[in-house]
Amino acid sequence: MSRPLPTRRTFLKAAAVAAAGTAAAATPVAGRASAAPSRRVRHTRSEHRVVVVGSGFGGGVAALRLAQAGVPVLLLERGKRWPTGPNSETFPRASAPDKRMLWHESTPNLFGRPLSVEPYVGLFESVAGVNMTALCPTGLGGGSLVYQGMTLQPSEAVFNEHFPEALDWRLMNRVHYPRVAEMLKVAVAPDRLVRAPQYLAPRQFAKRVRSVGLPLQKIPMPIDWSYAEAELRGEMKPAYTNGDGAIGVNNGGKHSVDVTYIRQAEATGLVTVRTLHTVRQVSRRPDGRWSLDVERTDETGKVLEHREIITKALILSAGSVNTTKLLVRAREAGTITDLPDGLGHGWGTNADRIYTWSSPSIDFGAVQGGPVVYGSPNWSDPKSAFTVIQASLPPLPVYAGTTMLVGFGVSSGRGVITYDSAAGDAILKWPHEGDSEIQTKHIDRAVRKIAGADAILTDTNAVFPSTWHSLGGANMGVVCDLEGRVKGQRGLYVIDGALMPGNTAACNPSMTIAAVAERALDRIVAEDVGTTI
Ligand SMILES: Cc1cc2nc3c(=O)[nH]c(=O)nc-3n(C[C@H](O)[C@H](O)[C@H](O)COP(=O)(O)OP(=O)(O)OC[C@H]3O[C@@H](n4cnc5c(N)ncnc54)[C@H](O)[C@@H]3O)c2cc1C
Repeated sequence: MSRPLPTRRTFLKAAAVAAAGTAAAATPVAGRASAAPSRRVRHTRSEHRVVVVGSGFGGGVAALRLAQAGVPVLLLERGKRWPTGPNSETFPRASAPDKRMLWHESTPNLFGRPLSVEPYVGLFESVAGVNMTALCPTGLGGGSLVYQGMTLQPSEAVFNEHFPEALDWRLMNRVHYPRVAEMLKVAVAPDRLVRAPQYLAPRQFAKRVRSVGLPLQKIPMPIDWSYAEAELRGEMKPAYTNGDGAIGVNNGGKHSVDVTYIRQAEATGLVTVRTLHTVRQVSRRPDGRWSLDVERTDETGKVLEHREIITKALILSAGSVNTTKLLVRAREAGTITDLPDGLGHGWGTNADRIYTWSSPSIDFGAVQGGPVVYGSPNWSDPKSAFTVIQASLPPLPVYAGTTMLVGFGVSSGRGVITYDSAAGDAILKWPHEGDSEIQTKHIDRAVRKIAGADAILTDTNAVFPSTWHSLGGANMGVVCDLEGRVKGQRGLYVIDGALMPGNTAACNPSMTIAAVAERALDRIVAEDVGTTI
């Protein structure tokens, strides 16, 4: 029997929930905006020294550090700017989602059923692959706009088990991780905030973790917690303190990449940021420079201009899935020849897992302050290290009495992003139950222990396999060197999640992506500026 198509409203609500980490029901999808070139669309051409594609953690670091070295940079970002400030309404609220949620080219179906919503350059692109849907953020600042902000640094033992040893954790521990922490002004939630009634859920989680003897720590976050305290005093509309900041924090106070790395980069006067610029194709020219086919769009995704952008050095920072897709498409089209064989391989989900948790014996409070206060880092065995954290759920009636547990860890399961001629595109393929070893033997067991015997747990990924933590595709040591230089392709770099070895050593990805980028840029500035760049 065929099921009725979801209404737009139902769909958007489900999409909000997925973005908020409770992807129990659906994936964000949208109708594709018409990108068909019109005869009136003008064509332009320009030449540059360095172009960075994408403005997340990798792109933000690359643009700033090159500019500080005196190199002019053109930064292209397909999404828009999302300025925040106390009481602004820039981001959609998780409790009232709208078109701002969705990138207009998201997979145009829901479990194989066509679905159309108003096109917009929204915050999430849903990339549906085989056995896995990757949720890819968009907008100036990339994932830092919508991420919860957990900023964990891997331990030396876990890092060395899963990353090339030549990356030198000790150096990164001394220089690059602290540099990222300083840039993002990371801080844990103050106790006086956590004592507030809105933060009952984190306190319940902490109590349970302690009672079952698992490790517990506060999670460093890129947040000025005084904003949450101002909300409690009634000086701002709630965003942190009711969990409604899961799709971007309207009040501000979140040190996302747009207001840290990119703001500083623009302040040098050497970085030109072009939002609403989507890179469609990359090519290597006969003269060794790089050529980009770029579409400038409006906020519905309608193409306003075609731009040919030529550059001596090209830094791909479009995120794991989109960077890899650009390169896989270029290989297929023959616009870049001799790309390394491992391209597209080694892609992983960081064993990212989301549970909803309710319990007849535990009260999580009427509203849940967030985004995240506590986590349980279980890192003693580097081969099976994982982390479980509690995160606030937005104030949706359907989730009254429920909170969220998120797990992630190391895993050997790997997928591939490969060209599929039937689909006419690069497609993500994931082995069914690719993360089952770490999931069933470690993450799930710990989650059930923490939640308690009478808990009602829903493993949302078992219902709908998805990830927020796409990693790999142009892996270091295989496709790129440790600094992101693509092997055999002078002037072509990958500086983003695509460079990671399919996991980030039992931690959320952002801090390690940024720290690896900081390390890479130190070397690129020292060794390549003046020659390749
Ligand atoms: C809901 C959610 C919550 C998360 N929570 C956390 C967390 O708490 N802690 C953590 O560490 N990580 C978290 N993550 C993951 C984290 O956001 C990503 O790992 C990180 O942002 C990846 O950084 P990146 O530099 O690889 O790329 P991204 O941050 O993804 O940036 C890539 C940018 O490139 C742009 N782009 C893509 N294709 C093109 C193109 N063709 N042309 C032009 N521009 C393009 C995109 O619009 C995007 O802005 C979360 C992710 C999501 C979605």
